[in-house]
Order: sequence, then C-alpha cells, then structure tokens
Amino acid sequence: MEKTVRVRFAPSPTGFLHLGGARTSLFNWAYARKTGGVFVLRIEDTDVARSTDESVEVILDSLKWLGFNWDEGPGVDGPYKPYYQSMRLFFYQEQIQKLLQTGKAYRCFCSAEELAERREKTMAEGKNWRYDRKCLQLSPAEVETRLSQGASSVIRFFIPEGETSFIDMLRGDVIFNNVELDDFVLLKSDGMPTYNFACVVDDAYMKITHVIRGDDHISNTPRQVLLYKALGFPVPQYAHIPMILGKDKTRLSKRHGSPSVTYYRDKGYLPDAMVNYLARLSWASGEEEKEIFTRQEIIERFSLDQVSKHSAVFDLDKLNWMNSVYIREADQSTLVQILVEILIREQVIKPNAVTPDFTHYCEKIVAVMRERMKYVGQITEDARYFFTEDFEYDWIAFDKVLMNEGAEDRLVLCREEFKELDELTVEATEDVIRNLSEKQNIKAAQFIHPLRMAISGVKGGPGLFELLEILGKEKVLFRIDRTLNQIKIRKQSGN
Ligand code: GLU
Repeated sequence: MEKTVRVRFAPSPTGFLHLGGARTSLFNWAYARKTGGVFVLRIEDTDVARSTDESVEVILDSLKWLGFNWDEGPGVDGPYKPYYQSMRLFFYQEQIQKLLQTGKAYRCFCSAEELAERREKTMAEGKNWRYDRKCLQLSPAEVETRLSQGASSVIRFFIPEGETSFIDMLRGDVIFNNVELDDFVLLKSDGMPTYNFACVVDDAYMKITHVIRGDDHISNTPRQVLLYKALGFPVPQYAHIPMILGKDKTRLSKRHGSPSVTYYRDKGYLPDAMVNYLARLSWASGEEEKEIFTRQEIIERFSLDQVSKHSAVFDLDKLNWMNSVYIREADQSTLVQILVEILIREQVIKPNAVTPDFTHYCEKIVAVMRERMKYVGQITEDARYFFTEDFEYDWIAFDKVLMNEGAEDRLVLCREEFKELDELTVEATEDVIRNLSEKQNIKAAQFIHPLRMAISGVKGGPGLFELLEILGKEKVLFRIDRTLNQIKIRKQSGN
C-alpha cells in the first residue's frame, strides 16, 4: 500500500509571507488535498535574532486568508507537536548525540576570527576554502578539557567522500560531488540548530514524505540527504519549484510592486483570484487557453510533473485582470465587506459608522463600480468622493471643464431643477438633463461633464445618473454649491 503523503510548509518568521512562500504553500496544500495526504505547517524560528511573534501572526493570517488550511501545526497541533522549532530543541539534542557518538559529527572550537584568517590565506593561494577540519584532530580528552574550561564551540557534520544524489520530481537526477560541501555547522555555539539540521530532524520526525520547496534550497538538499543517511532516516522525495522573478528577470522584490500577501489582501484582491494566479505561475493543467481555475479545479488537476522548472515571471497586469474576473463573479456582500474593512483600515470611516444605511450605501457603490474595478481598494483610491465632502478636485480638469463660457450657468440651471425633485433617481435626473439640453440646443455632455466634475472632482467614474442617485439630493446640491464657490474664487484670482 502507498504511504500517506505528508507534506509541509516551513516558513521562517522573519517578515511577511511573500508571494514565493505563498505559492510554495499552495503547491504543498494542493498536493496534500489531491492525494488525500496531510499538510503540515511548521514554524522555523531558530534564528532567535530575526524571528518575531508578529511575523508568525502575519504568516498565519496570510495562510488563513489564502485558505490553505493546515492539518497539523500551530493552533491545531497534531501527533508530532510542537510545530515551532524553538520548542523542539530536545529532538535536535537527541539526534546530535547520536551523530557525535558515531563520529559523524564533531566539535569545533575555531573562532570566527581564526576561520576568517585561514580562509583568507587559502584563498590567497588561489585555492577554494572548505573548513580544514582542524578540530577533527582533537582527542576526546582534549575536547573534554576545552569544554570544562568553558570554551565556545559548534558541532560540525563530517561530510564523507563521494557523491550525493537525489531525484527531483521536476528535474530528475541531481548529483553533487561531496567536495563541494563543507563540514557545515549543525549546532551553533548558543545550542541552537542550523536550518539544515533542524529541517532534517523535523522532517524525519514528522514523517514528511515529499519536500516541496523553492529551488533556492537546491544546494541545501545534498547536505540534508547526507544527514538523513547519517541519522538512519528514510530520505523524502523532493520537488524544487522555480523562483518567482520580476519582469526584469531579477528576484521578486519591492521594486516590482509589493511581494507580500498582506499587501494584496489590504488592497482588496480576492483570495480565490490570488490562489488562481499563484497556481498559474509555473503550473499548467495542459488545457489550452484555460486560465480561470477554482480551488477545486486546481486540486483535481494538480500534479507536480506539470510544474515548470523554469522561473516564473510575476505579471501585475495579469493578476489585475484575473482579479477583475473574480470581482465580477463575487457576491455583493463579500465585496461590501472588503470595502468596509478597507475604509476602516485607511481611516476613511470609523468602525461605528458602519450602520445598516451605510452598508446599503456601500452596496450601491459596489454595484456601479464592480465592472470597472481591478481590486476593491480602487474605490478609495479613485472614488474617495463617495465618502467625503472634502475631496480634492483634479484642478487641470476643473479648469478645462468648468472655467469656460457657460459652465457655471449650466451648473446653476441643474441645481435649480434638482432642487425641485423629491429624489435624484437615475430616470428623473436623466430627464432633467435631456430637457435642459434640448431647450438650450446643446449636447447633453455640456451638462454632464461639469456636473460630474462638480460632484466628484474628477473626470471619470461610473455613469453620472447612477452617481447622482447614489450620492443623493443633499450631497449633490451641497457639492454644486461648493463647486460654484470654487469657480468664483478662481475667477477672482484671475485663473
Ligand atoms: N525555513 C525555510 C525557508 O523559509 C524552509 C525551507 C524548506 O522548506 O526546507 O526558506
């Protein structure tokens, strides 16, 4: 019988969850769900100086937002708990003793300064530097003496001669000559394990069958394979997935827009769209032209041999397109909820402003904006006028549209007509504009552009009549007055 698949995502909590990490966790999660396996989340927090609780929170929140529910890990526990490396020191100690006793690891007392000096000397002779195994010569008695004197030491792994190979599910056989590997440190002088050591011990204890991770780790894999063998644990299968690059083919970073999942959540991208986009970065189902995949479709179709081994290029335009497709399909209430969260986070409104009336107002905004939105946050970027009387005008457009012959008078005419209406419905306002333009024998646009500028401060946006209805009579009259006043001020100042 096939063993149950057990995969893991093992982030280091030193910052936010970046898109590369999100895609790694997506592939692990999808593979587990596809195979009926187990998805483990393990926090690799042994770098005490750089790991923070805030980062753990951000990473867990991002994973939850993306919907990658883990079967074992923080908050759910599981048979191999704890799932934080900083709480697993006992296991590393247990295994290090095994390696020391069998001569597969040894203590090293060389200081950083000594090592730097010897490295420099070797390199000056034109040779490659590897740890020169000076401390391997120490007798057990000498080691004891130094330890009892309180000398600081690390524990190094003894790399045997030969070659180390493993099968990568994306690229086949990968072979390293062991001379390329150093007797690397397993346990640091403060007693904390290094990444390679802790990772192997945990993957082995947690019975991980497949290690799916970024290909920036490929050079660590031969070290880890040697460690599994030295510890007598079965070696898992490997799939190293390609990096995500920016359009200029350099590693994705802030220069290419934000690489953090939180950024996209806060901008009002939809998690399903994000998951779809991340899945399509370096994975193809083989169905030509199909770009939109639900989670279920991704799970059903996912297979590691369809993951490309070439790096993927992050394309914000494509993400925006995909997100706009999801926005068009989304429930109104979902979009409203996202909008309200953004408004509160950006301090456009206070939490106690979210009354049923306000929610209804947001529903109307979402209804007219959803066709034109790439992400929900565009509403506060491009249409802040929905939420404040104090919006800025686009002055260049203002001068063009309003500081010309007749615009002021036409605004006054509209105001007079609107004042007489009970409510500014789409139909009623459209009638007003049609009648006025017929009477004056000018195009309706001559009324529409000034009005739009007066009530929103910008030239583009949803249909004017919808906008008038959503804002309502009181705001519209107030805004026309405000604008008429601005026109006067500009005239006086000679503009
Ligand atoms: N903590 C490592 C990282 O965040 C995990 C690498 C691995 O999956 O082995 O890069």
